[in-house]
Amino acid sequence: MSLTRTTCPYCGVGCGVLVDADGSITGDPDHPANFGRLCSKGAALGETIDLAGRLLHPKINGDQSDWDTALDLVAQKFSATIAEHGPDSVAFYASGQLLTEDYYVANKLMKGFIGAANIDTNSRLCMASSVAGHKRAFGTDTVPGTYADLEEADLIVLVGSNLAWCHPVLYQRIAAAKLARPDMRIVNIDPRRTATTDLADLHLQISPDGDVALFNGLLAHLASTDKLDATYTRNHVTGVAETVSAARASTPADSGLTPAELATFYALWAQTPRVVTVYSQGVNQSASGTDKVNAILNCHLATGRIGKPGMGPFSVTGQPNAMGGREVGGLANMLANHLELGNPDHRQAVQRFWGSPTICTTPGLKAVDLFQACADGKIKALWIMSTNPAVSLPDADGVAAAIAKVPFVVTSDIIEKTDTNNLADVLLPATGWGEKDGTVTNSERRISRQRAFLAAPSGARPDWQIISDVAARMGHASAFAYKNPSEIFAEYVALDGAASQFSRDLDLSVFADADYAQLIPTQWPRNDHRFFSDGAFYHPDGRARMVPVTAPVLTKPRFALNTGRNRDQWHTMTRSGKSARLGAHLAEPYVEIHPADATELGVRAGHLISVESIYGRTILRALITPRIAQGQLFAPMHWTRQRSTSGLINRITAPVTDPHSGQPALKAGCVSAKVFKPKWYGFAATKTEPVARAEYAAIARTQTGWQIELASGKIPTDWEATARAICGQAQGEVSIHTDPATGTIRVAITSNGEITALFFASSDPVIVSRSCVVELIGTQTPPLVALAGRAATDQPDAGVKICACFNVGRNTLLRAVTKGARSVAALGEVTCAGTNCGSCKPEIAALLAEVSLPLAAE
Ligand code: SF4
Repeated sequence: MSLTRTTCPYCGVGCGVLVDADGSITGDPDHPANFGRLCSKGAALGETIDLAGRLLHPKINGDQSDWDTALDLVAQKFSATIAEHGPDSVAFYASGQLLTEDYYVANKLMKGFIGAANIDTNSRLCMASSVAGHKRAFGTDTVPGTYADLEEADLIVLVGSNLAWCHPVLYQRIAAAKLARPDMRIVNIDPRRTATTDLADLHLQISPDGDVALFNGLLAHLASTDKLDATYTRNHVTGVAETVSAARASTPADSGLTPAELATFYALWAQTPRVVTVYSQGVNQSASGTDKVNAILNCHLATGRIGKPGMGPFSVTGQPNAMGGREVGGLANMLANHLELGNPDHRQAVQRFWGSPTICTTPGLKAVDLFQACADGKIKALWIMSTNPAVSLPDADGVAAAIAKVPFVVTSDIIEKTDTNNLADVLLPATGWGEKDGTVTNSERRISRQRAFLAAPSGARPDWQIISDVAARMGHASAFAYKNPSEIFAEYVALDGAASQFSRDLDLSVFADADYAQLIPTQWPRNDHRFFSDGAFYHPDGRARMVPVTAPVLTKPRFALNTGRNRDQWHTMTRSGKSARLGAHLAEPYVEIHPADATELGVRAGHLISVESIYGRTILRALITPRIAQGQLFAPMHWTRQRSTSGLINRITAPVTDPHSGQPALKAGCVSAKVFKPKWYGFAATKTEPVARAEYAAIARTQTGWQIELASGKIPTDWEATARAICGQAQGEVSIHTDPATGTIRVAITSNGEITALFFASSDPVIVSRSCVVELIGTQTPPLVALAGRAATDQPDAGVKICACFNVGRNTLLRAVTKGARSVAALGEVTCAGTNCGSCKPEIAALLAEVSLPLAAE
C-alpha cells in the first residue's frame, strides 16, 4: 500500500488524512482544512477499521443470504409497494456519513424514478435550521464563510458551539490565531461552560433558547447607536425597518443575561467590524432554530459585515458530508444541485437531464415526520442508509416502535448489530471508511476525496452500487449504469452545467475537467471566491432579506435538558466505540448537574440520577459541576441500547421541531430528575465482552478487553454466578472476598493463573481505580492482590484518561503539577499530554484552573 490522501469521516471540519504504507494515520499537511492537524478521533481512526462486528453478508430476516437474492427482494418489495400504495408509501432515510456520490444516486432514484421526495437524512438533525435561515435571508443555502475568516477576525462569537469537542481542529486553528494575535476577542454564548469556554474572553451563560432575544437586542442596540450601514442596506438588503422594529419589541433580558453582560457584548460587537459569528447545534437544534439563525444573519446584513475577509455568519456542520448532501438535494424539501423543488422550470430541467419517467412535485417527509408516518402506517417500505435513527432521533423508543411497524425495512450499514439494524428485515453490507471512494464537502464548501486504501471485505459493496443495483432491478438500469463513483461525480457536475441558466450559488464548473483520481481539495465555486462580496444575493431582486423574528416565550421546567457530544466519541459509537483509547475518556453515560441541584436531590459524587420525561426514563451517572447552570442538565447522545441498559438519552427527548426547518429541538427538553437508589453498585473489567444484566449497565472497550459499570435494585442470591454471567466467564477459577463490614463483594476469575475478569460490588458507589483494574486483566497477578483494586506501589494509578493519544490520566497530570509543571505546555513536556492532536488541551487547562495554579502563557 502506498501513501493515500483521504479525508476524516467524522465531523464537518473535513480534515485531510494521510495513510502511510504501514497503515499509520497522520494529518495531511497540505489539506487546507487542517494543515496536518488531527483531533483525538481522527488520530484514532486506525483503531476503528478492523472487521470486528462488521456486517459482511446480506441478511434476510436474520439469516445469511446472497446479494442477488437480497437485491431482488428489496427491488420487488419497493416496486410492489409503490404499485399498490403509490410513491409516497416508501421512504429513504440517509446520512451525512454517505459520500456525495451515494447521496446523489439515492436522491435521483427517489425523486426522479420513484417520483416522491421522501428522502430525508440525519443531517436534518444537524443543520436544517441553518439551511432554512440561509434561504430566507440569501435566497439560497450559501455558507459564505471560510476557515481563514476565523483566523482573520478580530472578534469571534461562538453561539451554541462547543468547538473544542465537536470541531476540535477548527478550535485549534482559532486557539493558534488568538495566540498569534492576543488582541483577538472570543465570546462564547452557551448555557453551560464547556471546554470551548476556557478560550473565551467573555462567556455569556444564556438561558436555553434565549438567542433570539439576545440578537434582537443586539440589532436594536446597533440601530440606536447608529451602527447600521445605511448605504449597504439601501443597495443590497430589504426588510430593514420592520426587522429593526421587531427587534426593538424584544426584551434582551429574556436571554437570561444581566444588563452589564448585554452591554459588554453589544459594545464589543458594535465596535469591532471584523466579526465572525459561528453557530452550530446549539442554535440549530431548537424549536426556534431558524429564527435564531435569522436573528444572527440580520445583525450581519444590517451592518454589511458579510462577504468581506474576517467577517460574516458561519454555520459549521456536524456531519462530514452534511454539505455534500445539501448540494445533491439529500433533504426532503430540496431537489438537486441547489435547485428548487417548488419551481416547475427547475423540476423540468432535472427530469430532462435525468431522462426520468417522473419527478416529485411536493416536498417529502422530514425526519421526525417521516418516522411519525411510519408509526401511522403510512410508510410501508423504508430503507435506512448508514445511520441509526432508533438512537439518534428524539423519542427514540417511539421511533424504534415506528420502524418495527413498517412492513418492510432495509438497512445498509457497515456494522451488523445496531439498535436500528435489529429492527430490519433485510441488512445490506456496505463498505466503510478506508474501503470506499468518493467525495465529501466540508463546512467551508471544500470538496475533498475520500479514497480507499483497503480492499473492500468480501461481501461488502459501496452504497452507490447497492442503490444502483436496486434501481436497475426496479426497471431503471440504463439511468443507473454507473461503473464507478467518478462517473456519478461527472454526472453531478454535468447536471450543474445543464442548470446553469438558473440563478444559483452552486457552481461546479471548476470541476468540469478535473481528474477525479487526482482531485485536490477545492472549494466551490472556486478557491478564494468570496460570496456576497458584491452585495448580490439570490432572491429574485438580487437583494438579501432581513427577517423580522420574535423571541419565543420561554417556559421554565424544573430541569431543562441539553444534549450534546463528547470529545472522543462520534454519534452512536458504532465506530469510535471500537477504540479503547477513545472509550477511556468518558466511559459511561453521565449527566452534568449543578452542585446546588445535586444537594437538593440528595445526589453525591458517584451516585446515579434517574432523568425522566413523558417519553421515558434514563439512568445516568451524576457529574456534579458548576459548569452547568442551576435548573439545567446536560447529557451526551452517544449511548445506545447496545452499550447501556438505560443511558440512551433520546429515550426522553421530545419530537418537537422547528416549524420552518423540521429540525428537532434537542437542547432544551422538559425533564424531571431524582436520585436513583440501587441496592448495589458494581464495576467489572473482563477479557471478553460483558453482558449487561442490571437496571443500570454501561459497557466500554478497554486496552485489555472490556469494562462494565453496574447498578441494580435487586441483590443477587449468588454473587459468583452473577459475576460469571456478567463477565461472560463460565469457566475459570473463582476467588471471592466478602467484607461484611462494608458489604463489599470482590470476585476474581482466573484461567491458568491469568486474570480474566475482576468484579466488584458494593452498597455504595464502587471505589476502585478503574484504570488499575483494567490493566490487571490478562496479567498473572495473584487474585488476592488484584482484588485490592488499586495500583501496586511500583505502578502508580494514572487515573481517569485525559489525553487519549498518549494515554495520560488525571492523576499522572496532577503528580506532574505538584512537581512543578504549571502550564499546559509544561505538562506536555513532561507527560506528552496534549502534544499530539491537542484535543485535550482545554481539559488540561481546566485541571490546572481547578487546582488553583496560575496558568503560564503558552
Ligand atoms: Fe476528523 Fe477531528 Fe478533523 Fe473533525 S476535527 S474532521 S473529527 S480529525
